[in-house]
Amino acid sequence: MFLRKTALGVLLLCCCLFSAYGQKQALSKINIADLKEHLTFISSDELQGRKLGTEVDGLGITADYLAKHAQKIGLEAETENYFQKVKMASLKPSSANFIEVKNTKGKSKFKSGSMMIFQGIQTPKVLNNAEVYLAGFGDSTLPENLEGEIIVIAQGNAKSFKEGDNIRFDFGAEVAKIETLSKKKPEMIILVTTPQDKDNKGFNRLKGYFGRERYSVTEDKPEAKVPVLFLTPTFADELLGGKGHYEKYLKGVAKENISGWMKVKKRTVTIHAEVLKTELDTKNVIGIVEGSDPVLKNEYVVFMAHYDHLGIGKDGDVYNGADDNGSGTVAIMEVAEAFASLSKKPKRSIVFLWVTCEEIGHIGSTYYCDHPIYPLDKTVAAINLDMVGRVYEAPRDDVHKNSPKKVKDFDGLYTLSNDVWLQLAEINDAKCKELGIVPDTSLPKARFLRASDHYQFHKKGVPVLNYATGYHADYHKVGDELDKINFDKIKRVADLCFLLGYEVANLDEIEFDGKAKK
Ligand SMILES: [Zn+2]
Repeated sequence: MFLRKTALGVLLLCCCLFSAYGQKQALSKINIADLKEHLTFISSDELQGRKLGTEVDGLGITADYLAKHAQKIGLEAETENYFQKVKMASLKPSSANFIEVKNTKGKSKFKSGSMMIFQGIQTPKVLNNAEVYLAGFGDSTLPENLEGEIIVIAQGNAKSFKEGDNIRFDFGAEVAKIETLSKKKPEMIILVTTPQDKDNKGFNRLKGYFGRERYSVTEDKPEAKVPVLFLTPTFADELLGGKGHYEKYLKGVAKENISGWMKVKKRTVTIHAEVLKTELDTKNVIGIVEGSDPVLKNEYVVFMAHYDHLGIGKDGDVYNGADDNGSGTVAIMEVAEAFASLSKKPKRSIVFLWVTCEEIGHIGSTYYCDHPIYPLDKTVAAINLDMVGRVYEAPRDDVHKNSPKKVKDFDGLYTLSNDVWLQLAEINDAKCKELGIVPDTSLPKARFLRASDHYQFHKKGVPVLNYATGYHADYHKVGDELDKINFDKIKRVADLCFLLGYEVANLDEIEFDGKAKK
């Protein structure tokens, strides 16, 4: 008995030593010379800021560079040439768009091209002299069936309006309102921003986004949505015959606590709403180190980083994005090399995912999460790196007001996790400790869980972890250059990724606390 125990002990010790030796060997693959070489290329002017549509296709060249690296270090490919083709489109409001209000004699009382299309215009929508209904704040007391009707609703609700506190455009609340109203099948919803916002600040802010070119992933089966336009109170005033009338109407609705349902008399609307759509192609780059356990290899640890950036500015300056997100891109390249070099691979598979077009709306990660190459319910962790190459510089840089201390140091690192699998954060803390890194978890989750590609995985219930060395004075500026990168810091983050990934990939069983299943 004693002997057997000893033999087992020796065996276990050997395994541990072997594994520790293996990890150490692998870590030596993550080296500063390589990080520098990769980032020098990726953040060079020649790539024209790694954005779709530049004269030289720097985005595509970067994808090729990553795929070549994946092949060279021996990652396996599930897709052709390590590429996942991402189908997306650019959406631009047509310059022919307008909305017009006419009186019964057909005389124009209002005409504007500055309405915004929020949703639902797949094909051009043209309406001539159509009847409209006012529908208060669009609340639930409206008629059950609105089929075929064009309805005009106001931003906000009766309560905040009455209190004179209706200024803030609560996007989530408005979307919820639109969704509820859509079930009543109106022909169109026109949402009018609040007359309490005298300078139309809210409207202009929205216009900055919806009024210009947008990008989106092409859906396989696009859902038909009710067309929704945003307009200013000037439009609604004209429906009621003059300046200030809409505010008066809303006051009545709020005071009487009624739906405000009312057919507009003596006025019709004429509309041309059209969105110009251009199909675009770009790609994610994906490689894998297959796990060594016959069962657990069907579970995945994903490391990801977006490889795109902002392109060229109006003045011709190139946004090289050395930190955003050249740093994360090259860190993952080296982490991949470390895993690929292991003679005994971890039990679970490790996926390396370089996603495209994060800067224009998380396009690559959205597409991957809609069309996962490896099942998301078998993905035990998605670790995202976005800006991991800088160290706080006083007095130029800013840190988030919640975290004035930790992340300022060379040892500090913003880490953010969700609540799906709590042990992930514990493992992170332990690995950070081993490396002398101080995790800074002070970023408010409500905002920062949405801040980068990890959000798309979070939405699907995958445990996520996001690493960042923080915003800085050169964030989204041309000054985000190679010479400001701290390569020792990138190496520390890459080392952390390796150690954490190795541990997670070798755990016996993983049980989630939150919604997602493994
Ligand atoms: Zn970024």
